[in-house]
Amino acid sequence: MNILLLGSGGREHALAWKMTQSHHCDQLFIAPGNAGTATLGTNLPLSITDFDAVKEACLQHRIDMLVVGPEEPLVKGIYDYFTADESLRHITVVAPSAAGAQLEGSKAFSKKFMQRHNVPTAAYAEFTQENFEEGKQYIAQHTLPVVLKADGLAAGKGVVIATTHEEAQQVFEEMIINRQFGDASSKVVIEEFLEGIEVSVFVLTDGDSYQVIGHAKDYKRIGEGDTGLNTGGMGCVSPVPFMDDAFMHTVEESIIKPTVAGLKKEGLVYHGFIFFGLMNVKGTPYVIEYNCRMGDPETEVVMPRLQTDLVALFAAMDNGTLIDANIAFDERSCCTVMAVSGGYPGAYRKNIPISGLENAADNKNSFVFHAGTTESGSGVVTNGGRVLAVTSFGNTIPEAVGISRGILDRISFEGMYFRKDIGYEFA
Ligand code: ATP
Repeated sequence: MNILLLGSGGREHALAWKMTQSHHCDQLFIAPGNAGTATLGTNLPLSITDFDAVKEACLQHRIDMLVVGPEEPLVKGIYDYFTADESLRHITVVAPSAAGAQLEGSKAFSKKFMQRHNVPTAAYAEFTQENFEEGKQYIAQHTLPVVLKADGLAAGKGVVIATTHEEAQQVFEEMIINRQFGDASSKVVIEEFLEGIEVSVFVLTDGDSYQVIGHAKDYKRIGEGDTGLNTGGMGCVSPVPFMDDAFMHTVEESIIKPTVAGLKKEGLVYHGFIFFGLMNVKGTPYVIEYNCRMGDPETEVVMPRLQTDLVALFAAMDNGTLIDANIAFDERSCCTVMAVSGGYPGAYRKNIPISGLENAADNKNSFVFHAGTTESGSGVVTNGGRVLAVTSFGNTIPEAVGISRGILDRISFEGMYFRKDIGYEFA
């Protein structure tokens, strides 16, 4: 079958890499893609939130399956657009409906959903301009630190962990009154701070049954030792040593099963990935957030570890046989280390030539996934903050990280930076 994948990051390169290994995949198109995806299929220069353009590309290239990487088209209703159009109904769409994507698109929605279905999460309250004064009182009496979250999508910047009441009041006012994130912060969730280790679990569901396709721990801070500003993710590891069978059993029973059952009970159509962002609080998992797509850079370790045919899984999701799928994992340690542009997560330059990629060709133990890259006349150049994700397998986490570091030492671009301590607590 012909497949169209939407997105342009390391996540999409890893998904493309995995899908092209399937004998079900004839032609792969990626929109807009990057220099890495261009080696696996045909990049199409179109805007992924322009659904009419996506439709046209699907009809022109006889697409049978649409796979959506990032959240924006999901929250904007690409699933509903495709299923409402007679000429597109034959296409398998790997995506939740807009109603299902609210799990990520609205923090107030997801918190209420968790409450309705007894999914463990931090205690919270939500406020708008109408009950702003009440919100201020709520904050004044809240224990510290206190977490404030803009309700809607805010490109990963809508969450503040305030350590003083003054800071919390300021942030609250900034969000609600000054509309810091526009409509996305017209409602604010204020919640209890959970102390623990953050991890994520990935599930594919047809809205009835589900399969766990992987888990990971990521490293969000720019600096070594988890210091400095938050980023989209500087690397991650999988499997995570403490996420053993007993822990995963608890995650399935207390979190995944009630979530999937809740979606079904409420008639929220869902044919895609659920990313469970969890906090392990002394052995008990709580949901910090749901995302309605795969994570980046988590996908860059989840896909290499997954030994099951991904396209076959998508087809099974579509025809109601997902429950019978056989999921197998590479049990070796896997890591990915992200190389970023100088200055990231602040301002950075683009179009910087990348050298040494030819020394880092794929083999059985290592893969170089492109994130912010593009082809220029003279070769591959940088095109974003996060540029390359180098994934490696090893017998231990330190061994895997050492292999990725060795590969990154042979790649260079001006200003390139990567954390050398990914997985440090598992050494
Ligand atoms: P992302 O960029 O991961 O999509 P987001 O903007 O959707 O983030 P959240 O994931 O809900 O927002 O929160 C961002 C980060 O803030 C979390 O990854 C976590 O580290 C921290 N965080 C959120 N809620 C809590 C909480 N209740 N207790 C402790 N830390 C929290």
